Amino acid sequence: MTTSIETPAELEEFRIKVRDWFATNATREDAVATDKKDEVEEGETEDFLVVARKFQNTLYDAGLSGLSWPKEYGGQSLTMNHQRVFNEEASGYVMPSTPFMVTLGMCAPTILQYGTEEQRKRHIGPMLRGDEIWCQLFSEPGAGSDVAGLTTKAVKDGDEWVINGQKVWTSGAHYASFGLIVTRTNPDVPKHKGITMFIVDMKAPGVTVRPLRQMSGASGFNEVFFDNVRVPATSLVGVVDQGWTAAIGTLMNERVSIGAGGGGLGRGTGTVQFDRLAELATSTGAITDPVTRNELATIWVKERTLAILGDRMRASLKSGKAPGPEGSIAKLAGSELGKQVADMAMDLLAESGQAWTNDDEESLRWATNLLASPGGAIAGGTPEIMRNILGERTLGLPKEPQLDRDMPFKEIRTN
Ligand SMILES: Cc1cc2nc3c(=O)[nH]c(=O)nc-3n(C[C@H](O)[C@H](O)[C@H](O)COP(=O)(O)OP(=O)(O)OC[C@H]3O[C@@H](n4cnc5c(N)ncnc54)[C@H](O)[C@@H]3O)c2cc1C
Repeated sequence: MTTSIETPAELEEFRIKVRDWFATNATREDAVATDKKDEVEEGETEDFLVVARKFQNTLYDAGLSGLSWPKEYGGQSLTMNHQRVFNEEASGYVMPSTPFMVTLGMCAPTILQYGTEEQRKRHIGPMLRGDEIWCQLFSEPGAGSDVAGLTTKAVKDGDEWVINGQKVWTSGAHYASFGLIVTRTNPDVPKHKGITMFIVDMKAPGVTVRPLRQMSGASGFNEVFFDNVRVPATSLVGVVDQGWTAAIGTLMNERVSIGAGGGGLGRGTGTVQFDRLAELATSTGAITDPVTRNELATIWVKERTLAILGDRMRASLKSGKAPGPEGSIAKLAGSELGKQVADMAMDLLAESGQAWTNDDEESLRWATNLLASPGGAIAGGTPEIMRNILGERTLGLPKEPQLDRDMPFKEIRTN
């Protein structure tokens, strides 16, 4: 049962609890040695995973994870005001939350909405505690923006399903214990109608994970191969052949999560990027330049607007509404802001953004950020796809022509 109203005294008591917890258990961003920042923020090394899991375990054990999630599944059933207070108090502290973004921002909401009671009871608590990390197995070499064109097959065999095929760009598959996979179970019906979603154990026989390297040098996502992988019938999420509905739910949550920031963790008060740029502009002396100040102000406004939109989306989700096209607004605006921030940092750094000395970690971090920003725009749906969704669902423009929409999948030409 969710508490719907809280008194100011209760909120104040909660604020003190959160403040004390962070003071005891977390590191302030400005106190992290520069050479340790990647270790606590990037999310790819084994060391980072240990740090991140420990942090999430402690957060959960203190009753501060899954604040607005239902209590019966391990959450706290608290209000959006508790979440806001938490965000305010968390601001300025290092939160090693990257490995949990897909788990808490996309997979857990999907299990909550479409999973069985047994799946919710089995998985949501361990997800909130950071004991289970999940990945999202949707994209394939021939099915990205048009994910309904997927060809990975699942065939029923007694009490099990047998999965064969390939996924790609799977973030965190190299450390995930479970994945949410969408498969083709009926090729005789139109493409959106023969898809089924399952939970897959990433350590099951026949699952092969191969890391991919990005232009930033990081290796956050993977190719994943399924070779006669057997999953029990109890792994089914939702209804056979109707997995598209659950998949859309995951994708909408993904857009909310990426756009609003925080992967369901409710991270940030919304001026993190501005704070970092203002610090950089102060260190280079550009902070006194009116053009720089004007651009900083624009970034502050955009970041705050996105944070408020994020609060509104989380409140709407919490009240039981399905994520709507506002997730696409946040995703589109968030990726454009990310690019603006990366470009502005490069302008401020001037030549040291292109070539830096070995001890100049600041320039290295901003250059890495610049190289990672296009990926952020593509993940979760490209800007073109977000514009299509907004044109159709918000502005009421005519739908894109889709000639293969009503054809049986097996008759569609695929690469
Ligand atoms: C950092 C990162 C992390 C990711 N993590 C995951 C993950 O964990 N799990 C997962 O399943 N996937 C993941 N992805 C994959 C991501 O969802 C896809 O890359 C994305 O959906 C685009 O698909 P695609 O790369 O196949 O490009 P395509 O769909 O081939 O698109 C190519 C180009 O064509 C444009 N285009 C395509 N269709 C249209 C259209 N109808 N109208 C206008 N333009 C169009 C696109 O905008 C794009 O510019 C990740 C991607 C990135 C970059």
